[in-house]
Amino acid sequence: MFTRFVSWNVTARRDVLTAPGNAIRIGLLVAALLAPLTGLPWGMPPVWSQEAGGAAGAAAGDVEAAEAGGDDAAFATPREFGRQGSGFLSILKLLGLLVIFLIWVYVADWINRDTAFAKMPHVPWNMVVVFPMLAAIILALVIPFFLVGLVLTAFAVLIPLVVFVLQRNAKVHNDERVLTPAHISAVLSGKKKKRSGDAGGSEGKGPPVGLIPMGADRDLMNRSNLLTAKQSSGFLVAREVLFDAIKRHADKIILDYTPEIVSVRMEIDGVWHDAGNRDRETADPMLVVLKKISNLKIDDRKSRQKGNFGTAYRGRKQTWNFGSQGTKMGERAVLQLRTKNGSKLSSLEELGMRPKLIECLRELLSMPRGILLFSALPGGGLSATLAASLVAADRYMRHIVTFEEETHGEIEIDNIDVNTFRISKGQSTVPELLRLFRTEPDAVVVPNLRDPQIVDILCDQANKEGKLILGTIRAKEAVEAILRVLALKVSADKFVPAIRGVVNQRLIRKLCSRCKEAYNPSPELVKKLGLPTERVDTFYREPQNKTEEDELCSACGGIGYRGRTAMFEMLVVDDPMREALANQPKIEGLRQIAQKSGNRTLQEEGIVLVARGITSLSELQRVLKQ
Ligand SMILES: [Zn+2]
Repeated sequence: MFTRFVSWNVTARRDVLTAPGNAIRIGLLVAALLAPLTGLPWGMPPVWSQEAGGAAGAAAGDVEAAEAGGDDAAFATPREFGRQGSGFLSILKLLGLLVIFLIWVYVADWINRDTAFAKMPHVPWNMVVVFPMLAAIILALVIPFFLVGLVLTAFAVLIPLVVFVLQRNAKVHNDERVLTPAHISAVLSGKKKKRSGDAGGSEGKGPPVGLIPMGADRDLMNRSNLLTAKQSSGFLVAREVLFDAIKRHADKIILDYTPEIVSVRMEIDGVWHDAGNRDRETADPMLVVLKKISNLKIDDRKSRQKGNFGTAYRGRKQTWNFGSQGTKMGERAVLQLRTKNGSKLSSLEELGMRPKLIECLRELLSMPRGILLFSALPGGGLSATLAASLVAADRYMRHIVTFEEETHGEIEIDNIDVNTFRISKGQSTVPELLRLFRTEPDAVVVPNLRDPQIVDILCDQANKEGKLILGTIRAKEAVEAILRVLALKVSADKFVPAIRGVVNQRLIRKLCSRCKEAYNPSPELVKKLGLPTERVDTFYREPQNKTEEDELCSACGGIGYRGRTAMFEMLVVDDPMREALANQPKIEGLRQIAQKSGNRTLQEEGIVLVARGITSLSELQRVLKQ
């Protein structure tokens, strides 16, 4: 019988109780069943009341009277109340019990669903939730003091909840913990957002992700788009795909529509992962929903369309850029997570820079004049490094200006006096740059160096006016960054004296700290990597030989990696380097000179990360091939 009750708890509740209306209906039903019982001990007959009562009964009665407010004569004295007879129904007491019961229904329902999320066995946990409540209700019915019964039922909700939360929080990732101070504040702020943001579908069937319509000028239009989207079967599918992406910390999703099938891929920490195929029957309505909430034309499957929408998950709102375009095979949709504005600025240390390199960079940044280059591959995390460097330089410089195109908009720094000089597309940037220098800034940040005229001005400013210039350029290694500037046909006579250093970086995935696996590399390999064999005997890698039955790691979703760090290569341009640059700059020769001056290559920096167990050798090989 208990198993039947539990199985009802599991199956029926999922369907019946998830809708709030149904939960209330069931709550009322139970309340109606309990109603006659409330007449027994708490609304007890006078004889029993007096026998059992005594001083304690009177005290309990006083508390009840206080609770009742004392305004209503019928509620003022509990004895009178008791004298009404055994059939009397105490509305207040019933309400108290009902409130606790409804909280219990909610808690039980959440635990039932959350066991699946936290990968915990649901049958034992349902028992843990159900039996204390049953016991508490029975005890409450026989104990002749209502308050004691009420407290017992409250504990029957609270204790299983606390035990469950402690256990599930230990199993899930930091972001997914509940009832922590961070979660509570996120829920509080999330609720505020929800009211204005009008997220749809975060409750009810399906994953706990809500969709937020965006793109339309008018709020009314957005709401209407959401209402239309909700009618579609694709609404649930879209939430499923986005939930999968959010849980796996993906930044980008690509949906490729072909006549037969739709492939879903996700970019996680810079690496594309196959996220399974979907049939057209479910994936087509999903595309309609995504277009609708982005306020795009749902029937247009050919032309290039761009919009955006939002997701709400655990009180956190995120914006996704959405684009679709017809392809030879059908259509492609790209969903790109927008990086958060005003998100916490990372320090150089947090980005992965070694203390020695930070010291070196600080020195370069404190130079009164010269050009400092920052280089990486596209999407290599340059803007974060640049921002962190500016913060590190803040002590020495007051007036820093960034010079960027209006469409660029890459650098956003809080807490620092940065004026952004914006240029419209197509406009000549030279007069604007000259005008900017007339405002007498101490340092100018120029992302994406590509115009020789601009670089020429920057060199003059660095050499003659004593300005510090921070420029970014796409390059794989530090010496290549310098060669790329020279390749713009910039005069070496001007550039070589100006260039002071290069910070080159590459992002590398970090092994998941929860599931990484230790192994012993051969001493030959350790030696070949240039590491001391007597000190390094353990490397780490992602879990090997995974079988289908193995549970996926909840921290990394079974990928084996979680998050990225940067490897930095710092080149300080010294006299031998300058000489080589002025004569015949060839990459091989420059590398050798850099090596002689003590510059560590990305590979050497990466091997240190492998030896420290932060990443794996295979991951290092992968990123060095880029
Ligand atoms: Zn893991």
